[in-house]
Amino acid sequence: MAVCFIRKKQALWLAVVFALAALAALSQAGVEPTPVLKVRYVPDGDTIMLRDGTLVRYIGVDSPETAKKYSSSQPFAQKARSANQKLVKNGVRLEYGPELLDHYERTLAYVYTDDGVFVNAQMLRLGLAWCLFVAPNTDRFDKLLAVQRLAMDEGQGIWANLDKSAGPVVGNPRSMRFHLPEHYAPTKNARLFNSVWDAFYDGYAPCATCLPDWQTTKWPKK
Ligand SMILES: [Zn+2]
Repeated sequence: MAVCFIRKKQALWLAVVFALAALAALSQAGVEPTPVLKVRYVPDGDTIMLRDGTLVRYIGVDSPETAKKYSSSQPFAQKARSANQKLVKNGVRLEYGPELLDHYERTLAYVYTDDGVFVNAQMLRLGLAWCLFVAPNTDRFDKLLAVQRLAMDEGQGIWANLDKSAGPVVGNPRSMRFHLPEHYAPTKNARLFNSVWDAFYDGYAPCATCLPDWQTTKWPKK
């Protein structure tokens, strides 16, 4: 009897362990999108608040900042926010990358409209966001960059306003961020870009410290 009891207990534990592992694998792969979730509020072009209060930050993209207490809106911030509002008005389905939360505890997601439009990519397509590489959620980065390039080639949104000769900047290929030359001592792997345009075209994003307002930065005349 005693032996039988232990075996049953072991079997139960094994079943629990397997179920948890299967669940973890599923959420990591992000194969199962959520049901349609209602959106309560849209603060900007790369974030939404769900009806239950969850803040969702879009994976792989960054959008101009809307006005905060001590700063005014960046160019195209209101356009980005309205475009996002329009896209998510009927609710969203979420898919996840390997990392579920960022350091502000926001949920990181690939966001789809109720009828299947990939919102992260659509914001890029409209030229109202740019690619932002953040490991480990990088599995769809190449796809997103291809969409950004299309918007750049067509001069959509922010790309119409970007001076193609603005620069130079230095890229760190590990972080995929570009900096003002004086803010980054190039290592041997650094990428030297003649222009901000070229850095964006290769999937680099501006450093938040030295180029927080890259759209309005005054570049030296060449
Ligand atoms: Zn920098």
